[in-house]
Amino acid sequence: GLALGEGQRSWRLGVMGGTFDPIHHGHLVAASEVAARFGLDEVVFVPTGQPWQKATKKVSPAEDRYLMTVIATASNPRFSVSRVDIDRPGDTYTVDTLRDLRAERGTDTELYFITGADALSQILTWRGADELFELAHFVGVSRPGVDLQQKDISHLPADKVTLLEIPAMAISSTDCRRRTSEDLPIWYLVPDGIVQYISKRGLYEVPENKESHGGE
Ligand code: ATP
Ligand code: MG
Repeated sequence: GLALGEGQRSWRLGVMGGTFDPIHHGHLVAASEVAARFGLDEVVFVPTGQPWQKATKKVSPAEDRYLMTVIATASNPRFSVSRVDIDRPGDTYTVDTLRDLRAERGTDTELYFITGADALSQILTWRGADELFELAHFVGVSRPGVDLQQKDISHLPADKVTLLEIPAMAISSTDCRRRTSEDLPIWYLVPDGIVQYISKRGLYEVPENKESHGGE
């Protein structure tokens, strides 16, 4: 753009959206691998807002998910965390996340939205799908149990979507929550500080299917 000085290139910003309930090493490996392969200057982790409609499944408070994301990323100088989604009222839509980051960072920033192969397949059902590809490049990463080759992306603009094989990490937040509720260890599935934070705050102690759903 015009604002760029001689020999300067735009800031390459990876955007890793997620519920992060809790953040785990699968998220961190995905962000690190995409950063290396795309020469990203920074990856910003963006925890989703609290679902406000009748939520079908219970999600931990936004502040807990935000703090866990900060703890897990603190040691990496290229990782940061944004509150745009948790501070915006209402449900989180990726188009709003990208618009807010674009407005915050300016036009000298290239956005790379990082998403798991499972989430990528839903991309056209996302609100504002047509605008998404004007805002960002999309990187779909492999995830155990989801066959990347089987993903039909022929309906998506080829110059805006890349599929990337990353080291397999058979870790999910669902599994971490279930293990915690069953008194099984989650050491090494999540960073040490996250094990300690979950224990300190007593998160996930009740099995999900036995949780009472707020006032019902
Ligand atoms: P849940 O089990 O609650 O759905 P999750 O483990 O899928 O949690 P999310 O917060 O839903 O975590 O994921 C955020 C993003 O990270 C999504 O795009 C998801 O596809 C991706 N992701 C999650 N786990 C992995 C993994 N092990 N490898 C690669 N990508 C992952
Ligand atoms: Mg998920």
